[in-house]
Amino acid sequence: MKNNSKYWIVTDLDGTLMDENYDISPAKKTLNMLSELSIPVIPCTSKTASEVRHFRNENGLTDPFIVENGAAIYGCYDKSYSEWELILGKSYTQLKTILFSISKRVNYHLTPLNDLSKNQIYELTGLSDKGIIRALDRCWSVPFLNPPDDIFEKVKLICDSYNVHIFKGNRMSHLLSSESHKGKAVNKLKVYLKNNDVKIIALGDSQNDLPLLEYADIPIVIPGKNGPNKYLQNGIDNGSFRLANAPHAEGWSNSVEDVINNFKDL
Ligand SMILES: [Mg+2]
Repeated sequence: MKNNSKYWIVTDLDGTLMDENYDISPAKKTLNMLSELSIPVIPCTSKTASEVRHFRNENGLTDPFIVENGAAIYGCYDKSYSEWELILGKSYTQLKTILFSISKRVNYHLTPLNDLSKNQIYELTGLSDKGIIRALDRCWSVPFLNPPDDIFEKVKLICDSYNVHIFKGNRMSHLLSSESHKGKAVNKLKVYLKNNDVKIIALGDSQNDLPLLEYADIPIVIPGKNGPNKYLQNGIDNGSFRLANAPHAEGWSNSVEDVINNFKDL
């Protein structure tokens, strides 16, 4: 980790750097450029630590990473494979108990991803066998099947009484402690690395990225093939967020290069 970096790229993965087939190839050139410029690329995702370790190995990333929607942060000590860990959230077991209580109150069974069969998870995610094992290695958040919109609205209303919040993703929703979200995690990482002046360039595509985009110095929304997520539209309309000019890795790449080429504006 280049600890004196003036800028961090903090990025969501699913739907942002990756398309629905988990492809990031249009961003490879930009990732190489960032590495040459010693600009850290910090994944900030709903994925598990196991999934992100695999992703980092495959793509040559070495900087810290934020997992389970901001509930935990990991990084490697210099010149070592041993990791440090910061925890913001509640444990998986505590959260699963809360999910069951909420299910009872809204009279609708909210089904945790980890309770599905391997086949059902494959249908939902398209992940391989090993990918499924990594995705189920949850410690600090509970992903569950998206309920119908009217149930989701009811669930959101009672979350506060359990000190949790819920984010709706493209494939599933996530329950996590209200002590943790992506913005709080980036702030904690800044403090931990004693780099309070670093500028955050953040990229995201969904509701769970809203706290990250609101925290960032340069927030960039990556649209899907049908345009930006409805929860991020307001920030685009009022000029708080930039909107990438293409979906997924291509839009990611164009936006990051645009920012880097205009560093004098930061
Ligand atoms: Mg996403």
